[in-house]
Amino acid sequence: MQAMVCEGAGRPLALRTLPRPEPGAGQVQIAVHACGVCRTDLHLVDGELPHPKVPVIPGHEIVGTVTAHGSGVAGPAVGTRVGVPWLGGSCGHCRYCATGRENLCADARYTGYQQDGGYAEYAIADARYVFPLPARYDDVHAAPLLCAGLIGYRAYAMAGDARTLGLYGFGAAAHLVAQVALAQGRTVFAFTRPGDRDAQAFARKVGVHWAGDSDAPPPAPLDAALIFAPAGALVPAALAATAAGATVVCAGIHMTDIPTFPYRLLWGERCVRSVANLTRHDGEAFLALAATLPLTVHTETYPLARANEALAKLRAGAVAGAAVLTPNA
Ligand SMILES: [Zn+2]
Ligand SMILES: [Zn+2]
Repeated sequence: MQAMVCEGAGRPLALRTLPRPEPGAGQVQIAVHACGVCRTDLHLVDGELPHPKVPVIPGHEIVGTVTAHGSGVAGPAVGTRVGVPWLGGSCGHCRYCATGRENLCADARYTGYQQDGGYAEYAIADARYVFPLPARYDDVHAAPLLCAGLIGYRAYAMAGDARTLGLYGFGAAAHLVAQVALAQGRTVFAFTRPGDRDAQAFARKVGVHWAGDSDAPPPAPLDAALIFAPAGALVPAALAATAAGATVVCAGIHMTDIPTFPYRLLWGERCVRSVANLTRHDGEAFLALAATLPLTVHTETYPLARANEALAKLRAGAVAGAAVLTPNA
């Protein structure tokens, strides 16, 4: 099969011909039809994530069809369309796994990081960690739901019942979260890199109430802010834009250092927290919601061999919505 392989930090992905992976016990083999390109993939390529498998095939927003079972797999049946998310497996018995917090399991394995992912024509996955997908989304438009949607949704859930929501970094995750929040009647403000008129226009097209520069004050104080951009300086900026009692959620896996800031920005029972990974329950809850809510998923598609181009465009902040690779297209 063809695959785009990360052979070391700081190097472009290499197009390689590899043996088709065979499913082991408990695994399914999947023919990959679409795989989303996530900012986490950039962090992997840039060497910002500790201890990746090397070499590794990136990609953790996989949509494909089950083509074979390993031993002991009861389902999903061969021929079923499934999605493979970032959480590739967890230990199943630690105190986090035992309490529905498998996203915090120290022995969890992550797709496209510690095990090969979906920048390839075939992938294997633990059968217990794949999801059926809502029929209303085709393969390309379902792919971004699997991380941008799902982890975005987990971050959104941390905002509680915030009426006014700020989204920092208006990419794949924010454009989906914005639609969920708008459908639930909330006020949504989008913050982009200062001067990024294209991203602000895109946010307005999605329907947000206001879009502006991340260093500009919003029209009203925020009850919660979700930070999707990997820039630590956004934490004090977001705090300064919030009302008392607000929560600032850092939703990315990597962020540059957070600068020091005066305590008064945190005062008033404001809270700063991160969101890590996802649980299978998050996946089921978000995909059930996505089945009822007609999310408009904005995508740009690239053939597998042009993955580096997609990553470069994502790095430049020039993707409107989500980039998706189409192996087996
Ligand atoms: Zn565990
Ligand atoms: Zn991701």
